Amino acid sequence: MSTEQNIPPIEEELTFANFGFAEPILRAILEQGYTKPTPIQAQAMPHVMQGRDVMGAAQTGTGKTAAFVLPILQNILPLASSSASPARHPIRALVLTPTRELADQVADNAFKYAKYTDIRTAVVFGGVDMSAQTALLRSGIELLIATPGRLLDHITQKNANLSQVQFLILDEADRMLDMGFLPDLQRIISLIPVQRQTLLFSATFSTEIKKLAQSYLRDPVTIEVARQNAAADTVQQIIHMVPSDQKKDAVIKVLNARFQKGLSRQAIVFTNSRIGCSKLASALERGGIKAGAIHGDKSQIERMQILESFKKGTMDVLVATDVAARGLDIVDMPCVINHELPFSAEDYVHRIGRTGRAGAQGDAIALVDPSEERLLVDIEKLMNRKLVRMPLPTLAGGAGADPFFYMPYRAKDSNEVSKDVLPQSSPAVTPKPGNSSIKPATKSVDALLGAFAKKS
Ligand code: AMP
Repeated sequence: MSTEQNIPPIEEELTFANFGFAEPILRAILEQGYTKPTPIQAQAMPHVMQGRDVMGAAQTGTGKTAAFVLPILQNILPLASSSASPARHPIRALVLTPTRELADQVADNAFKYAKYTDIRTAVVFGGVDMSAQTALLRSGIELLIATPGRLLDHITQKNANLSQVQFLILDEADRMLDMGFLPDLQRIISLIPVQRQTLLFSATFSTEIKKLAQSYLRDPVTIEVARQNAAADTVQQIIHMVPSDQKKDAVIKVLNARFQKGLSRQAIVFTNSRIGCSKLASALERGGIKAGAIHGDKSQIERMQILESFKKGTMDVLVATDVAARGLDIVDMPCVINHELPFSAEDYVHRIGRTGRAGAQGDAIALVDPSEERLLVDIEKLMNRKLVRMPLPTLAGGAGADPFFYMPYRAKDSNEVSKDVLPQSSPAVTPKPGNSSIKPATKSVDALLGAFAKKS
């Protein structure tokens, strides 16, 4: 596989019009308010439009959906038909994603980008009734977004036929492999013509991903928009060493310390297991913190409701497993807490990538039991940096209160720090846990699952 060296530099004045998009696509882009392409778009789109296979390293939040959907729409536009006949609308492009949430999010964007064309778009994923999806598939769809399992169900039931697919996109391919989708992927790809264009997006290029690319991509252009295995420099990472049985209390303590400081109430807390996820959300609720859990055992409807509450700010903390949280487009989540370290160091990078996006400041806090030291060493090795260990915060007003405790989180900007920690002229009001007098940072989750926002 080759790494393209002659990708044109990203110029300030580069606009979407420079790429030669047809008018209906340009109109949709303008309507979205996009003025210039993001780095992944600027680098990937010319190659995709030229028909090259692409292996792209980019995470959700970089604009990667448009980076592949827009040029694919452009490529299939000449084949689009206004005929009502399903036969005139075969599946020409297939996007596979690891989770329902990501599928829905990609589809939501694809609908917007395709709205002025005759290209029909649909999304199918598990956890919801098949009949509406079946009707859509049978009516004819050019651009299909799907999770592997549900797509195979539809193929088995002859609702979907992949024999005319010319464009295959594997989104968050690393996660699909982590979730054990390789056999499903292999089955699906075996049903797609070999003469096709394949795009593979992954947050990291692990050995397995490279193997997958070697099997299914032809001489791909490799594009990386960020250093591999790197966290944004705007993320302050802190480790608190906490025995397992004290972690629930520690999460409450950390959150309350943030609330007391007037920091945004919103945070995502990651857990490794579904049961742990539910238990922690309940413990937070008992501790006066409005929290909800999303994990693989929750129905799609439940997940949507919880995300909607989080989005509206009626819930402050989202407790999630990796699988459920994957693909959420959270542009500037202020804080990520790892209730335990993930088993793979790369997952740690994914998790903390939920904060500090697009130059925003973010805090990534991990609670580490001594038995997890080994995982911590792996993470430090992968990130090539030693993470700061600190004792847990103490709450203002209590014995041993330490209002300066969180200084390191903001230590970058001395003005900001002094503003943050200056003694107040009037006695500080200790907000009750769950006190909603501090306005929730709803803006920070405005970009969360646009699909749900649209539907509500
Ligand atoms: P994605 O990485 O595809 O999940 O996109 C993250 C967010 O960026 C989405 O809310 C997109 O609507 C938005 N976005 C994508 N491309 C652009 C662009 N060129 N300019 C501004 N916002 C964009």
